[in-house]
Amino acid sequence: MGAGAAGIAAAREAMGLGLTVRVLEARGRVGGRALTDAAVPMDLGATWLHAAQSNPLVPLAEARGLELFDHDSVRSSRVWMGDRWASEADMEGYDRAERAWHAAVTLAGAGGGVRSLADAAPRGGFWDATLTHWEGPVIAAAEAGEIDLDDYLATLLNGTNLLPREGCGHLLAVLAEGLPITLSAPVERIAWGGKRVRAEGAFGVLEAGAAVVTASTGVLASGAIRFDPALPERTIGAVHDLPMGLLSKVGLRASGDDRLDLPSFGGIERRLDPGERAMTFVAWSFGRDHLEGFAGGALAWDLAREGEGAIVDLAFQELRGMYGERAERALRREGGVESSWGTDPWSMGAYASLRPGRGGARAALSAPIGEGRLMLAGEACHESLAGTLAGAWGSGARAAREAVAAVRRLT
Ligand SMILES: Cc1cc2nc3c(=O)[nH]c(=O)nc-3n(C[C@H](O)[C@H](O)[C@H](O)COP(=O)(O)OP(=O)(O)OC[C@H]3O[C@@H](n4cnc5c(N)ncnc54)[C@H](O)[C@@H]3O)c2cc1C
Repeated sequence: MGAGAAGIAAAREAMGLGLTVRVLEARGRVGGRALTDAAVPMDLGATWLHAAQSNPLVPLAEARGLELFDHDSVRSSRVWMGDRWASEADMEGYDRAERAWHAAVTLAGAGGGVRSLADAAPRGGFWDATLTHWEGPVIAAAEAGEIDLDDYLATLLNGTNLLPREGCGHLLAVLAEGLPITLSAPVERIAWGGKRVRAEGAFGVLEAGAAVVTASTGVLASGAIRFDPALPERTIGAVHDLPMGLLSKVGLRASGDDRLDLPSFGGIERRLDPGERAMTFVAWSFGRDHLEGFAGGALAWDLAREGEGAIVDLAFQELRGMYGERAERALRREGGVESSWGTDPWSMGAYASLRPGRGGARAALSAPIGEGRLMLAGEACHESLAGTLAGAWGSGARAAREAVAAVRRLT
């Protein structure tokens, strides 16, 4: 169930093992939290193929002739200091502080006993609040105090970050081609107590030897899918130990030729004092005419509650602080795009992070239910690539192997 990365991987794996499958997808499109707005073009959800060396989507994209661009080779960043851009000397200080920050956090993890990333993160240094904000809200989509330290360290992404030129959403759509997917088919009830699993909804009833459910932990926690019998206690506990964080994106179009002195793929950050929060930006990817803004964690949830357009207003406010009225002239308010993962009932957030002290929840979430007839899968299940397409893909394929084994064993 679900035609995001995990569901597509599960369907392909089960079919490869000789089973007949059917994917029921609530939305009228495939891709889940990978969605490319073709008009801009820009990814509103997943953007990079992280950890390229071990990312199963990299060879699949290459086999289909899709161009993957090495973002790290062109990455650059400007940092706004509040009244001026950071100098070279400032940036050297930032680099040194970053190394020290990571060393301190790693040391705290090795020492044991520390629960959250916030407890481990250095405080008081000139760059510390900026670094903690980056690693928490911007990267993990959650506040540092909401992130388990051991899990943060276990899910750190190393290696190259590749960008599919046509977008991650496009890549998933290509990988879903030819699969037996029923769109606009929200599953409302899953009965798994008998010899076969039944999925029910307005589409009717579908019976199978086993089912792989890939809805996000946000959707599972919302109760939108009724399980009968109820999910085991340990699974329900794991769902609640892995709440959804939020990362929101906005794309602003250039009005004319002014590119705000930023190169293609140029990043913008702001140095933060403790308690401050901010958006970050990536400009003109692939030489295109839009600037992408990101807001994560509590800031993103606040913007989602304020409603459509709030992230556009904040992006302009941030950019006006740096560029003055030039930002208003260089960028258009209309014609842009913004994501809505926080209010979308089929995602209820961006990706999950583990509550401090709740180690074991990812394994509990992916443990077989009903002797393997029912498997949960998705990004939140992966022990090292959690929060990514690669993790979702790996988890879906693994769940499918378990489900296929259960079908063969039990029927
Ligand atoms: C803004 C943002 C930026 C991100 N950036 C990156 C990045 O750069 N790199 C990266 O690797 N990852 C990134 N991610 C994370 C990545 O998108 C997810 O980890 C991944 O897409 C999750 O895949 P999934 O299959 O687990 O879940 P989903 O993609 O959510 O798939 C689940 C599917 O189930 C469907 N569904 C839900 N409920 C039902 C129901 N009741 N009945 C039927 N179908 C249902 C949903 O519609 C959905 O299609 C980002 C995510 C966001 C939101």
